[in-house]
Amino acid sequence: MRPAILNPLFADVTALQGVGPKVAALIARAAGPRIVDLVFTLPTGVIDRSARPKIADAEFGSLATLEVLVDRHDPPHSPRQPYKVIVSDETGFLTLVFFHARADYLKRALPEGERRLISGKIEDYGGARQMTHPDHIVDPNDAAALPLFEPVYPLTSGLTPGVMRKAVAHAVERAPALPEWQDAAWLDKMHWPGWLDAVRAVHAPSSRGDLSLHTLARMRLAYDELLANQLALLLIRRARIKSSGRSIKAPGKLRARALKALPFALTRAQAEALKEIDADMAAPERMVRLLQGDVGSGKTVVAFLAMLSAIECGAQAAMMAPTEILARQHLETLAPLAEKTGVSLEILTGRDKGAAREEKLAKLASGETQILVGTHALFQEHVTFKDLAFVVVDEQHRFGVHQRMALSQKGPRPDMLVMTATPIPRTLALTAYGDMEASALTEKPPGRKPVATRTIPVERLGEVVDGVERAIRKGEQVYWVCPLVEGSDVIPATAAEDRFAQMRERFGDKVGLVHGRMPGPEKDAVMEKFHDGEISILIATTVIEVGVNAPNATIMVIEHAERFGLAQLHQLRGRVGRSDKASSCVLLYKGPLGETARARLQILRETEDGFKIAEEDLRLRGAGDVLGAAQSGFPRFQLADLAVHGELLSAARDDARLVVERDPDLKTERGEALRALLYLFSRDDAVKLLRSG
Ligand code: ADP
Ligand code: MG
Repeated sequence: MRPAILNPLFADVTALQGVGPKVAALIARAAGPRIVDLVFTLPTGVIDRSARPKIADAEFGSLATLEVLVDRHDPPHSPRQPYKVIVSDETGFLTLVFFHARADYLKRALPEGERRLISGKIEDYGGARQMTHPDHIVDPNDAAALPLFEPVYPLTSGLTPGVMRKAVAHAVERAPALPEWQDAAWLDKMHWPGWLDAVRAVHAPSSRGDLSLHTLARMRLAYDELLANQLALLLIRRARIKSSGRSIKAPGKLRARALKALPFALTRAQAEALKEIDADMAAPERMVRLLQGDVGSGKTVVAFLAMLSAIECGAQAAMMAPTEILARQHLETLAPLAEKTGVSLEILTGRDKGAAREEKLAKLASGETQILVGTHALFQEHVTFKDLAFVVVDEQHRFGVHQRMALSQKGPRPDMLVMTATPIPRTLALTAYGDMEASALTEKPPGRKPVATRTIPVERLGEVVDGVERAIRKGEQVYWVCPLVEGSDVIPATAAEDRFAQMRERFGDKVGLVHGRMPGPEKDAVMEKFHDGEISILIATTVIEVGVNAPNATIMVIEHAERFGLAQLHQLRGRVGRSDKASSCVLLYKGPLGETARARLQILRETEDGFKIAEEDLRLRGAGDVLGAAQSGFPRFQLADLAVHGELLSAARDDARLVVERDPDLKTERGEALRALLYLFSRDDAVKLLRSG
């Protein structure tokens, strides 16, 4: 159960003064539904009202706070005119202007003959100074009521800055002091404030400098969040290791046979990864290992060789891909290997229906099928394995954690290998896969030709199309990728559809189109045609990012390359250069390029190393954007910014490791405080794994 001390933070925002259901709905959109969400919504700006000039010195356009004498009210003569109030100090006059004003309110707020502190923007009205709707009007005896610095928060339409600011301020007032969960020596070393002081400080900026991600308060809070993340992952990992798996040690006869059948030798990186996987499988604990490597780096082969160990021990293995077409490609890669090795391979997808499906399921249940490749269909209810010992999940981040879990329940705690072709910077990998060990295929199989990458302004599109024509005359194939932009028409048209229509005029039925809004089977059909060489040019949106494998494709054209992220461009480029033919990638851009876009395209020209590109991507864009909103499985941080606080992550990792070693059930005094930390960042899932008490 969540410690009671946290209850005020987890109350609904409607518990705050001045927040009714309507405002609450807006706040939920801008920040979240609970008070803690407001506390963790940090200011993005600060309004500085500390300038206190005399009227004559107040500069036009500046924000000023002035002490003035209210001289007289000048009510409007018609409803369309504004209400004016003339104020002054010893240096001059200023006109306050109010539209749609209520006279009684203004009489009370600005009594004639009294002094007032006013704050707002000084405007130029034909050379005279005026201020329209001052932000603040207070009695000078009550000067403290006028904030000299006001934080600015992210908003949503309908939510005014004032309402949001008050809501956050009330939320912060409610934040309790919490027992310290950080190591005292570490806090001391970093000069960090306590949690509550840090929270108050980040919400009370008095300069732009205070908004920096490097302030002591902000660093402290970022570290808190990272520590919660790492501690949760390690607790989950520990719980899994404790619930032991099985030890799979195969003499390696099958593998030797497969290696002999392969027309190539394993790269050093492949052999290394395989050794790590073998050790995991042999250990009695359950394996969960991440295998990272660029498209074409040879992950599938590694996975296959690992599966053979399970099969040699009399068990079964499964490989799950995110799409039908990817599952079929795996089948294509694996089938010849399986045949030469003498193991039985089957595919199961949503397309299997009726009697054929029943037969496949029966073979699986009897153990006759040794390797099953497929899509989500693999973990549906009626799919029963005889003895599933090893599961390979491809393109992990397209699956949710829950799907991963569902598949692993198909066997008695099967070992799991998670493969991803999206190289993830080390820091991000830690936050998302911190519960797994990781292997990386950092070198490409020998003989691959580099992909010649060029950036070309879209004005030279014609030359590019000529190049495409030359390539397809040689029997090669071309990908042509357009970004997803909706036309302004009533019926939305993708840029890809427009380009398709144009290319069609020149190249006829050699051109195919796939985009995200097409029904799945239709999409698959076009991709298969491309794969089989029936069409030469595939116009596409990014649905091909993890798509078909067409070794014959030698040109990748990416339109509006400046709109894509680095990682995405790299993924797309990985679709070509898969054979011994020379390949090229054309990045068409529309100038003028911004600084970041230019840097991005430059990096692509310089390197094909996915890991390097991923690190650069993180540096250029920040963590949230690197992964994209659509990709599940990655935590979103509220307080930490991995591009800036990445350094803190390894410290948090070490810290969490020590905690789990010394106080695995979080029972010491610090352990208790750390439980509260986990709840504070909604890692209830991890706390539930602790032995209660
Ligand atoms: P990934 O799954 O990482 O995209 P694959 O395992 O599908 O990569 O391998 C891509 C291609 O490279 C396949 O055609 C495969 O046969 C080939 N390949 C894999 N490993 C090697 C190697 N060590 N040497 C040469 N070719 C290899
Ligand atoms: Mg693959």
